[in-house]
Amino acid sequence: GSNTTLNSDEDNINVVIRIRPMNDKEKSCGEKQILEFPGKGQVICHTDAPGQKSKVFSYNVVFEPAATQEDVLEYCGIKRLLEMAVEGFSCTAFCYGQTGSGKTHTLTGPPGLVESGASPYSPEHGLVVRSFVYLFRLIQERPESHFILKASFLEIYNEKVIDLLNPGTARKPLQVRWSKDSRSFYVENLFTVDCEELDDLFAVLEEGMRNRSVGSHAMNAHSSRSHTVLSVRVRRELRADASVTCATHGKINFVDLAGSEMTKRTQSTGKTLEEANNINRSLMVLGYCIAQLSDGKKRGHIPYRDSKLTKLLADSLAGNGVTLMIACIAPTKSNISETINTLRYAARAK
Ligand code: ADP
Ligand code: MG
Repeated sequence: GSNTTLNSDEDNINVVIRIRPMNDKEKSCGEKQILEFPGKGQVICHTDAPGQKSKVFSYNVVFEPAATQEDVLEYCGIKRLLEMAVEGFSCTAFCYGQTGSGKTHTLTGPPGLVESGASPYSPEHGLVVRSFVYLFRLIQERPESHFILKASFLEIYNEKVIDLLNPGTARKPLQVRWSKDSRSFYVENLFTVDCEELDDLFAVLEEGMRNRSVGSHAMNAHSSRSHTVLSVRVRRELRADASVTCATHGKINFVDLAGSEMTKRTQSTGKTLEEANNINRSLMVLGYCIAQLSDGKKRGHIPYRDSKLTKLLADSLAGNGVTLMIACIAPTKSNISETINTLRYAARAK
C-alpha cells in the first residue's frame, strides 16, 4: 500500500505480551516475581508500595514465562502476517521492551544460537527462523504461483542506517530516499539477497547477526540503542493465461527495537524531539505513530517522516498491512517501573 492511505480497519495493530523467566542471577539474589497471570489475558502487577494497589492489565494474548518459542509462533499472530505477505501486503512484527526483557531471544533465540550455524529446526530458534520455515511451507502449498524472495538486513543506530549484509570496514551509513514509483521510502544501495531456498534466508540472518555483534564490540550499549530490521520481500507471479502474468508484492519486516528505557532517558533530559536525535529519535517517533494509529478518532497527521525507522515501516504501519507488537517484560521487582511502562504502552497500542 501507499504510505499515505490509512486503513480504517481497527485490527491492523495486534499486541501480545511475553514475560521471560527469571534468570539464574535473579533467582540466586532471591528476587521476587511480582507478576501474576490469572488467565483470560490478564497480567496483574503487584507493586507492594504502601498505599498502592496492584495494577491489572488485559490483552488478547499473554505468553507466560513457561511459554516455548513454538508457542509464540503458534499464538502470537505471525502466521497471519506471513500469509498476508504472500498475498501481497506489507507486514511488520516488532519486539518492544527494556534491555534484557527478551526481545532478541523472542526473535532469534539465545545469544549466539544463529551465529553458531544451528540447524533451522533447533527448538531454541525464535520467531524469525520459525517464520522462514512457515513461509516456505506457504510457498510450497501454492505451486500455481512463482515466488521470488529477496532479503535485506539493516541496523539503525543514532539515525544512521548500516547495511548488516555489507557493512564495509568503515560502516558507512546509507541514505533513506523516497521513491515516486513505488510511493514508499527505500534505502539506497542496500544489499539484497535472492533467496530461493530456506537455507538462503537462514544465511542472511546468520550473516547479519555476525556483523551486528562485530559492531557491538566497539560500544557496550550498542545493541540496546540500535534497531535492526530484517525484511523479506515476496513477489508472487500468477500466470493468468499463456500471455498474461500478474504479480503481487508483499513484505514482512522483523524489527528488534532499541531498549524502551531509551525513550525515557531522552525525555528526562528535557530535550525536544529535534534535540533527541542523538539518543533515540526512531523509538520516540514510532511511539507517536503507533499511538496515533491505534487511536481510532485521531487519524490526522502521523509523523512517519520524522525518523528513519518509521519511514522504512510506513507502508506496513499505514497501508493495508498488519503490524504485530510483541511487548517483552521481565518478571522481577527490580524491573517494575520499566515493566509498568511497557504494559501501559502495549495497552495503548491495542
Ligand atoms: P533484549 O534483547 O530485550 O535486551 P535478550 O533477548 O538478550 O533481551 O534477553 C536477555 C537474556 O535473557 C538472554 O540471555 C536471553 O537468552 C534470556 N531470555 C530472554 N527471554 C527468555 C526466555 N523466554 N526463555 C529463556 N531465556 C530467555
Ligand atoms: Mg537484544
